[in-house]
Amino acid sequence: MVHFEKSQPAPECLAIEKDKKNGNYNCGNVLERLQQDFKNKCYLCEDTDITNIEIEHFKPKSNFPHLIFEWGNLFFSCGYCNSVKSNDFHDILDCTNKEHNVDKNITYQIKIEQDLKEKISIKSIKTNDVTTQNTVTLLLEIHQPENSTLNKKIASQNLRTKILENVNNFINYIEKYVEAKNENDNTKIQTIKIIIQKELSNSSKFTAFKRWIIAENKEICDDFIQLLE
Ligand SMILES: [Zn+2]
Repeated sequence: MVHFEKSQPAPECLAIEKDKKNGNYNCGNVLERLQQDFKNKCYLCEDTDITNIEIEHFKPKSNFPHLIFEWGNLFFSCGYCNSVKSNDFHDILDCTNKEHNVDKNITYQIKIEQDLKEKISIKSIKTNDVTTQNTVTLLLEIHQPENSTLNKKIASQNLRTKILENVNNFINYIEKYVEAKNENDNTKIQTIKIIIQKELSNSSKFTAFKRWIIAENKEICDDFIQLLE
């Protein structure tokens, strides 16, 4: 999960729809605005090529009916993450709120275990904070559910495969970058640096995993530190 800035003001149609008996929050350009604000990616799994796009209510509709048409409560997500979150999570970190510091408060890691299965590790830095803990629980439920339906288990397996593929590509770029630095090859350094910068931007896939790889790599962390802020 990474921080996204929500554009303002709210789409005008929301206030109009709110006053109707059966108003629709997917009105006017709401979906296009969300697509832009969230860089066309699901804010929970951080996948970008999603085909089952949904407008997600950050505070669930059933418990917070007064927020159904609230612009600040509308998020961009994939159907899978929306279904995992359902009504069960109403107190999680808000990635559109800079003060919630989602980029820093949760760590992400994917690795291959001895049984050749991918293992995702998502942890809270603020272990005594309930909201951060809830967010970690939700993210683990999405990435690596323990007790879930077969549909969700398969979906999360497919997600892990994608993350691993993407992260491995990223690690290749880092290795090439370190190689170029050792060779003092400035042209190569600059070329790969641009690719790594793009991979660390909000609009890339699975950015949080990549940012933590950089943050924990002392050799090159300083070269990209400004992108982790
Ligand atoms: Zn998702």
